[in-house]
Amino acid sequence: MALLPVNDALVRILNSVDELGIETINIHQSLGRIAAENITSNLTQPPFDASAMDGYAVNYADISSPLTVIGESQAGQSFEGTMKIGQAVRIFTGAPMVSSADTVVIQENVTRNGDQLIINDCKAKGSNIRDAGGDFNIGDTLVEKRTKLDARHIALLAAGNVAEFNVYKQPKVAILSTGDELLEVGSEIGPDKIVNSNVPLFMALVTEHGGIPINLGTAKDTALDVKAKIALVKDVDMFVSIGGVSVGDYDIIQDVLKEAGLKVDFWKVAMQPGKPIVYGDFNGIPYFGMPGNPSSAYVCFTNFMLPAMYQMLGRNIQGLEQSFAILEHDIKAGSARINYMRGHYYEDDKGQKFVSSTLSQSSSMLKTLADSNCLLVRDMDAPTANKGDLTKIILIIP
Ligand code: AMP
Ligand code: MG
Repeated sequence: MALLPVNDALVRILNSVDELGIETINIHQSLGRIAAENITSNLTQPPFDASAMDGYAVNYADISSPLTVIGESQAGQSFEGTMKIGQAVRIFTGAPMVSSADTVVIQENVTRNGDQLIINDCKAKGSNIRDAGGDFNIGDTLVEKRTKLDARHIALLAAGNVAEFNVYKQPKVAILSTGDELLEVGSEIGPDKIVNSNVPLFMALVTEHGGIPINLGTAKDTALDVKAKIALVKDVDMFVSIGGVSVGDYDIIQDVLKEAGLKVDFWKVAMQPGKPIVYGDFNGIPYFGMPGNPSSAYVCFTNFMLPAMYQMLGRNIQGLEQSFAILEHDIKAGSARINYMRGHYYEDDKGQKFVSSTLSQSSSMLKTLADSNCLLVRDMDAPTANKGDLTKIILIIP
């Protein structure tokens, strides 16, 4: 049977996944969440005309003769009186502007002696005043729908006195690994065993991209154990199992899941690594069956699970950023599968990207995955690529 092309697989996944809906949260819990509305300001900022500098509030028409300082306006406490001709008010950065003044002269440009003030320099009427609403006005959109909130957005919303707002719900992702050979990190590793690295990988990936991971643990390669573990798949938005989807005698996960209600949409995609990936519907929950080799599982996450998570999260991007880079060496002709090669790119001082892919591409290797910063994409049946050719890359570190 012909393998399903990567793009067809992605379309099938995205057609079967919906936005999760919205919830109202407090600003202090909002880092990394995705705005589900245009969030508008409850305040005008600055709320009043304010001094931008430490100095003196004056009338510009008045400044050629000596002035008398009659009071003070400080941040948080304005000057209550009225300033007349020949008068000035001491003022500080952020303090409300004196209503009867039109200019602030910075303190470096005056000579003060007791109450007497001589203005030595002032370029223009209206200097050093921050106008009310100069930053934003009440009702203005501060953050657009589908923005991923970072520290700057949070500060802006706080300044607009927006304490609560709507964001998209986070996908809850159940993660199950399978394999008799696996022991958890930190255990004593006996003969024939390896450490489970895929669960930490997927817990971290799901968290990093805005989901909530739920670790179902590791099942032995027996129907009994897999069944016991999948009984725990409840109240989640996505289910991923890792390992056991290939064609070996112990690759039982697909059959056991089918008995428990899995409807397979596709199995095996024209990609390398990651070919044996399974996708389907497990009793209403989108299900990904990932191959066990860590780099294969990672590439499948990047291509398929991440776009599905982003769609659930209401994001307006489909996954990691793609770019183009100049090859630093020749690469042999591609195969009938898209090849995602671990690579390393850098930018020169003109911002031009260069990429090389001399790391081992064995899908069992993790060090070469951790050492790479991009995936170099070789299309199906790509001809030989030469040093200097432009090639597609996926930036796995922005
Ligand atoms: P499988 O897909 O179950 O045939 O596994 C393929 C390879 O990936 C085997 O060498 C497994 O030992 C390895 N593997 C499977 N699951 C994990 C895991 N959770 N952590 C690390 N390696 C794994
Ligand atoms: Mg296995």
